[in-house]
Amino acid sequence: MAMVSEATAGSKLSQTRRPGETEKPSQDSVPARVVLAMQGVTKSYPNGRVALRGVDLTIPEGDFVFLVGPSGAGKSTVIKLLIRDELPTKGVVLLDGRDLGRLKRHEVPKIRRKIGVVFQDFKLLPNKTVRDNVGFALEVTGAGRRVIDPAVDRVLRVVGLTGQADQLPSQLSGGEQQRTAIARALVHNPRLFIADEPTGNLDPLIGWEIIQLLLRINELGVTVLMATHNAEVVTAVRKRVVALENGRIVRDQPDATYHRED
Ligand code: ADP
Repeated sequence: MAMVSEATAGSKLSQTRRPGETEKPSQDSVPARVVLAMQGVTKSYPNGRVALRGVDLTIPEGDFVFLVGPSGAGKSTVIKLLIRDELPTKGVVLLDGRDLGRLKRHEVPKIRRKIGVVFQDFKLLPNKTVRDNVGFALEVTGAGRRVIDPAVDRVLRVVGLTGQADQLPSQLSGGEQQRTAIARALVHNPRLFIADEPTGNLDPLIGWEIIQLLLRINELGVTVLMATHNAEVVTAVRKRVVALENGRIVRDQPDATYHRED
């Protein structure tokens, strides 16, 4: 049952998982907890390329953040640091207060499960059904069917794929494949949901459906960070925009458009 006690505090997504649970106190009256803090983060790659320079970024619980910037600005590097694929050269990355650079080896998988990630190219297992792709993410943690089955049903309902649960990825549209990837990323009740250019491979209309879904997931209490080039979406949605250029944050603005409005 460890999975349940790790559930996202205050997230209605996790609350739907435990119908008998008493409702948590409202978060409105208390300051939001910080999910992610990057402090003075510099990242140099072994070839000498400096991808991030002194980045400070704080994301409170419940936020929806667009991470924007031209190609090469450092967006993917931020994501790699968050999923601990890379470590900072200088500075610290704190997830839920834990310094990712100071984790013991055995702690890494548990902390990684605090993050759900979806990519442009979905990364689904081709020989597994939708249900099994989503359930596999829990199976590898040693969870049993009594935990996995209701958790999978719950996230498939959230992404609207209940009817496709037994299909293979090749039998799905691009939008449905991305929904499957989103369900898989949500099944652990992550503290932070990261979407790396999630609409990049989709028709604009389908891309919009995915954005609507991410907004709904955010309304359910999940903190979302989305890296994107999609100016139209960012400008229409008006959420917090963090803009990177040449490894530096050049703008961090609430309710913002893709391009600076001066
Ligand atoms: P973005 O996602 O905004 O396109 P990246 O984080 O991929 O930016 O890249 C930032 C900079 O770091 C670029 O100059 C890129 O060439 C460099 N870079 C990214 N990954 C590596 C790597 N593994 N080794 C060396 N340089 C890298």
